[in-house]
Amino acid sequence: MANIAFIGLGNMGLPMASNLVKAGHVVTGCDLSPAARDAASEAGIRPVERIAEAVDGAEITITMLPAGAHVVAVWSEIAALALPQSLFVDCSTIDVESARKAHAIAESHGLSSLDAPVSGGTGGAGAGTLTFMVGGADDAFARAEPVLSAMGRKIVHCGSNGAGQAAKICNNMILGISMIGVCEAFALGEKLGLSHQALFDVASTSSGQCWSLTTYCPVPGPVPASPANRDYMPGFAVQLMLKDLKLAQEAASSAGASTPLGAHAAELYSLFEAQGQGGRDFSAIIEMMRG
Ligand code: NAD
Repeated sequence: MANIAFIGLGNMGLPMASNLVKAGHVVTGCDLSPAARDAASEAGIRPVERIAEAVDGAEITITMLPAGAHVVAVWSEIAALALPQSLFVDCSTIDVESARKAHAIAESHGLSSLDAPVSGGTGGAGAGTLTFMVGGADDAFARAEPVLSAMGRKIVHCGSNGAGQAAKICNNMILGISMIGVCEAFALGEKLGLSHQALFDVASTSSGQCWSLTTYCPVPGPVPASPANRDYMPGFAVQLMLKDLKLAQEAASSAGASTPLGAHAAELYSLFEAQGQGGRDFSAIIEMMRG
């Protein structure tokens, strides 16, 4: 069992750190928010106010923060204070460039590092069933895998530094585009007098089949667990989908890749957010598709 520092105890970080405690690890947690530190204490995490205190004696430091700038700032502050040869793992969803910058900070202090963003949302974080997409060296991956397994069900080593973030934004670009496609099809079906169930029964067993349809159906009825059945309470909020689509566009532009549908999906989600819908589940975009 390891001594682990966990920085960023928000909607995702707190349940993830709690699962590490349940697996028998000794976890010291740090967050700017006093409420998050109180909740951490209740979950058996030792709460501290300063990130320097969190990394003191930690063999592994995990960050789960809002964006690339936070990760680079935190890693810059603590890299010099960390135990020699300790391992830094960033699980936040951030831009590939910041992820590579964070790896460089760790390397310059002789530390091992991984980018390891997750998919599965707050439900997966609580249940310990997240998927981790990991970028970094083989030996760092081998050290992290047993610890990540306490928080997730599937741990995929995607390649070298930044490959985890690359996999995450490519996957979420597919998701953003496919959800809009499924919503358009249901909106068209409604205008053609087709019932939701009939379209679902055909498309879910035909070539239109995809996760956005069969697991996360954007109309109430066919998939009882989907957010459409609870007035689009997230789930995965529009603002988080928009964040990931923007990261994909930034990456596409710096890599010279052409992603016209990804760009259009980002525009549509931006428009939907501007209509005051940022806090709703991303499948609610069907309301905009209906016109
Ligand atoms: P959140 O805003 O709930 O939590 C972030 C936490 O970081 C906050 O509690 C904040 O106080 C803390 N924080 C910020 N700067 C800090 C600092 N310098 N030191 C210590 N604490 C600091 O966000 P979240 O929903 O937990 O998401 C975290 C990351 O996970 C994001 O990158 C997000 O894109 C990604 N993600 C979220 C979901 C989801 O469904 N919420 C799913 C997959 C990935």
